[in-house]
Order: sequence, then C-alpha cells, then structure tokens
Amino acid sequence: MNSNEIDIHKELKKYFGFSQFKGLQEQVIKSLLDKQNTFVIMPTGGGKSLCYQLPALFQEGTAIVVSPLIALMKNQVDAIRSLSSENGVAHVLNSSLTKTEIAQVKKDITSGLTKLLYVAPESLTKEEYVAFLQTVPISFVAIDEAHCISEWGHDFRPEYRNLKHIIKQLGDMPIIGLTATATPKVQEDILKNLDMTDATTFKASFNRPNLYYEVRTKTKNIESDIIRFIKQHKGKSGIIYCLSRKKVEAIAEVLQVNGISAVPYHAGLDAKTRAKHQDMFLMEDVDVVVATIAFGMGIDKPDVRFVIHHDIPKSLESYYQETGRAGRDGGEGHCLAYYSYKDVEKLEKFMSGKPVAEQEIGFALLQEVVAYAETSMSRRKFLLHYFGEEFDDVNGEGADMDDNVRNPKTKVEAIDQVVKL
Ligand code: ADP
Ligand code: MG
Repeated sequence: MNSNEIDIHKELKKYFGFSQFKGLQEQVIKSLLDKQNTFVIMPTGGGKSLCYQLPALFQEGTAIVVSPLIALMKNQVDAIRSLSSENGVAHVLNSSLTKTEIAQVKKDITSGLTKLLYVAPESLTKEEYVAFLQTVPISFVAIDEAHCISEWGHDFRPEYRNLKHIIKQLGDMPIIGLTATATPKVQEDILKNLDMTDATTFKASFNRPNLYYEVRTKTKNIESDIIRFIKQHKGKSGIIYCLSRKKVEAIAEVLQVNGISAVPYHAGLDAKTRAKHQDMFLMEDVDVVVATIAFGMGIDKPDVRFVIHHDIPKSLESYYQETGRAGRDGGEGHCLAYYSYKDVEKLEKFMSGKPVAEQEIGFALLQEVVAYAETSMSRRKFLLHYFGEEFDDVNGEGADMDDNVRNPKTKVEAIDQVVKL
C-alpha cells in the first residue's frame, strides 16, 4: 500500500474522529506509507503520536514503537485501546510482564490483531524478543523521543544507541524518528545514530508568538521583585523554577508569608505530597508552584500565565521546554528569567565534578544560555536561531514580544548591566 492507494482523511476520521490533520501530520504519514525513512521535529503538543499511530492502525503488520518511559507507553496503549473494541490492538512489551502475559502478546501479534507494540529500548535488546519479532510482519519502527539517542539532548539514554543494530536485524522496514528537540546538533546525532541520513525531514516551527521573553539582572532584591511581579498578575497561574530543592522551599515560604498562594514541588518530597501539590495547581487551589525541573513533564495546564526562572537553566533547550508550559491556550504567557554571572560560575563548579566529556557538553550548552541572557538582539530570534530556524524580527509573528525589542539597548549596556552586580 502506498500513499495514493488510501484515503488517509477517512482513516483519520474513522480511528480518531478528527476531521483534519494538524500541521505536517498528513505529509509525514504519506512519507511513511511510501516507505521512506522519516524524521519528525515538532514542538511538544504538536501531535507527533498520531503520525505513527494512524498508519500503524490501518496498515498490515505490527508497528514497533520505542519509547523511553513506561508511564508514557501505558498512557498511549490505554488511549489506543479506547479507540478499538480489541484490547490486543496495542500492547507493551517490558520486563514486568509475566510468562502468560508475554504468551498473550505474542499470540496477538502473530494473529495480526496487534497494530502497535510499545517497547522500552532495553527490552528490545533481549535475544528472545528479537528472535520472535524476526518471524512476524513489521509495518515500521517508530522511535519516539528520539533525542534520547544524543548526548547533546536533555535526556540521553545509552540504550537508544543500540537501536540501529537491532532494527537492522528485524528486517528492511521504514523508520520514523520523532522528537521535540530542535537543535541541529541533536538532529544530526539522531540521523547518524539511527543510520537514516537519507530520511525525509519534517520540521514544524518552534515559534511561540504569544510568549513574552524577558531577562532581568538578578540582584539581592530578587525576592521582592518576584513578589511584585506575581502581585501584578494576581489570581493568575504561574510556575517558578529554581535550581535546588532548598531554594524551592525557601521561595515557596517567602511567597506564602507574603500572602501569595504557592506550593513547593521537587523530587525530595514524597510522592503523595507531590501529587497533592500538582493537583492543587491544576485545580487552581493555588496560583503558583515553586519547583525544580522535576515539575512539568506531561503537565498540560492550558492557562499558565507566567514562568519565572529564579536561576538560569542548564541549556536553552530546557529553557524553551520549561517556558513552553506558559500560554498553551494561545493567551498571554510571560517568561521571565533572572540572570547573574555568579549563577553561571556556580553551575560550572557543579559540573566540574563530572566526567570530562559530559563537562564539555555542559559548558558549551551553558555558554549559549549566557549568550541568550546577555544578548541585545530579539530574544525570539536568538532562541529560534539556536533551533536552526530563521526568524524575521521585524515582521515575524510575535516579533515585538520581548524586552530587547520593546526597550532596545546597546550591546555594551547589556553586558555592563550584568557585570556591575
Ligand atoms: P506530542 O507528542 O507532539 O507532544 P501528542 O501526540 O501528545 O503531541 O498530541 C497532542 C494533542 O494533540 C493530543 O491531545 C492529540 O489528541 C491532539 N491531536 C493530535 N492530532 C490531532 C488532530 N489531527 N486533530 C485534533 N487534535 C489532534
Ligand atoms: Mg509525544
């Protein structure tokens, strides 16, 4: 079956009930149907899953989906099962299954019932599974969160490095890699490590025109500055990111003392407290979450109005992901970062205990953050350029949505302001 032989709009409606594709989905699916290796770069929420789920559902054979997190796989399997009357349409293959469960999964795949098989990369290395998968028809292999293959990404998983060899053993089928990481370096790594430099690449824009970017010099008065900012956004939802758990606790307390409803969130809190604080934020029982980067993955609150970075992030990639949680509904989203060179030195010192290769990458990523903080050019242009995207800072969408564009300063002033601290 190639892309001309099938009405994919009809299939979209049939399986998902949607009447239109989102962004580049249609082109992506056609490329996959035409047996091309395909590479998809779309921001979070762009609709990447459907790019492999839909063609898997209507094609012959089973699609193998590699995904790094058991929780993510379970969610997707549940979602797919809810679209179908057959539980066996989607399965997860991982180390937690019993022998009986594994037998059922194999039976469903062999009978052609299973259209999507989710596997963790480490399970896919198991001889036994590889030997079995060699005997059944595979429609294609999807590598979700493909940036996990790169040390330059924010979530490197060594097991992703083996995928290339295993896929080769499974036979000759197209591969689709998907990620929300847009840096050219990571993209290059993905294509190389999956051995698909021939892939057709589909990249959506990463511009978020409704987000306002601002950097303020970090001074001793940062706490009162944050309090003033929040009071100006009274009743609005916001996230404040801090580097350490200690800082999270301290800031949450300062806010509470000042009459702002805020809760802390970090990995040092027990699971129950974390879940409670997260729910309070989602249900709007509190306005503000003060958190480490442990907070945010998979959180989809559409009306977060501000994201404040009390400390600078480790990379522009993380900055983009973290600020991206603001303004999901298309409404206002103010992204405010506090910057001081002392913090950079602190991060560098922290990294100096790590292996040399990791250090080098860490320093290089951090230098980009420094350059972003110190730039006098359009911050949106700077960010998008980092993602390999040209942005027209005069006519582009959201061109006037940052401090540098609204209040232009000369380069010397920009650096001056920071050094004076
Ligand atoms: P990503 O993996 O890129 O972050 P998801 O695959 O999780 O994004 O999709 C984000 C949301 O978009 C989901 O709620 C999904 O149901 C929705 N979505 C995807 N494709 C469409 C479409 N064609 N029409 C409407 N909604 C869609
Ligand atoms: Mg996804």
